[in-house]
Amino acid sequence: MEQRRSLKVLWIVAVVAAIGSALALVVPPREYPDVGRVAPVYARSAERLEVHTLTRGQTLGELLARSPLAADQQQGFLLAFREKASPRRLRPGTEVSFRWRGEDWLRGVDVTLNPDETVRLTRRGNGWESAVVSTPVYTDTIFASGTIETVLWNAVVGNEGLHDLPAGDRAQIIHYLDQVFQWQIDFSRQIQSGDSYRFAFERVVRPDGSMRGGHVLAAELVNQGKAFHALWFDPNGDGKGTYYDLDGESVRRAFLRKPLEFRRISSRFSGGRFHPVLKKWRAHRGVDYAADSGTPVQATGEGVVQRRENAGSCGNMVQIRHSMGFVTKYCHLRGFARGVHVGSRVSQGEVVGYVGMTGLATGPHLHYEMIRHGNHVDPMAIELPGGDPVPTDSWTQWAGEMGPRLDLLNRMVDPLAGFADTRIAEEEESK
Ligand SMILES: [Zn+2]
Repeated sequence: MEQRRSLKVLWIVAVVAAIGSALALVVPPREYPDVGRVAPVYARSAERLEVHTLTRGQTLGELLARSPLAADQQQGFLLAFREKASPRRLRPGTEVSFRWRGEDWLRGVDVTLNPDETVRLTRRGNGWESAVVSTPVYTDTIFASGTIETVLWNAVVGNEGLHDLPAGDRAQIIHYLDQVFQWQIDFSRQIQSGDSYRFAFERVVRPDGSMRGGHVLAAELVNQGKAFHALWFDPNGDGKGTYYDLDGESVRRAFLRKPLEFRRISSRFSGGRFHPVLKKWRAHRGVDYAADSGTPVQATGEGVVQRRENAGSCGNMVQIRHSMGFVTKYCHLRGFARGVHVGSRVSQGEVVGYVGMTGLATGPHLHYEMIRHGNHVDPMAIELPGGDPVPTDSWTQWAGEMGPRLDLLNRMVDPLAGFADTRIAEEEESK
């Protein structure tokens, strides 16, 4: 599903064309977390591999029945398999690899559960043993920078220097960047031609080159001349760190800039064809986001649900009261999230409903309003107080880690400062 979405977006990107971007370098730095390549889990010996793919409706048992295994062996095999996974839940397309020694001795079978896990069955005496084997992964760090000539998608997804990465992974990196900058910038509305970005991204990679996950280590986005920074800091090393700016202030704010994830927003509005709200939001008193029906809508800030009802032209709507005199309003919902009722407390980012076209709407979209002390405000322009700074007891650690983090960015040439020339020089040097 995720991938299909990404592909759809890529298709849009391809159509829009005019990719304007450049890349600094893609070098795994030795001094940063890098576990290197993990040795193969098993060495392939002189065995013959026979790979089957489960067809729709076909079971593992049926596949075994076609093998020369005796019936009791088949039973033992399935028993051992059940210790690790349910044979009934295998999807069509599951790879089942028979490992033969010689012509007729089946020594083992690998069943791929998902891209990250394989159930490995090995013959032991008269029976079978099973184990779950994790697909080996390695970690590296990607550096990229560029200027945005049209939209962010084009700049990152079309970044020539990232051509090694599967297109879906490039799209995924934009999602990570959106998560990092979601309190500062609405990627769908505020990115302008001439803006620039630099980021260092640590990724976990499977042997086939696809990305299993990762996170932004350091990022800079220059939006209309204003630079935003986000540096990852995880003092306890438990993965629960957060992002801070250059002054050690958290990038978090009381409100997200937008109530939908950037990857869920379709480009119809930003293309200006559907409803050029950006220029006349005052008259409109809200922001519209086109998205597929059913797309989750997030509360932009913590608060209490004030209204949850069908309200005329607004359709199904949720209204949330926040601190500091703020109220936010979400219209045209197809439905409400479970547990969201008048009086419910919701946290920032919590799903409150799903995009629809109830009320006065010509297509599925979200109408979002932000009101402060009774007056409509522009959610993208509102200044919000900064988040919590780096905790005092972690300050020394922060001060020590920030240098290397910043170096990650600074090793890339500022995309706004004659980047193209530098790149040519580098290429010539390396010949
Ligand atoms: Zn609207």
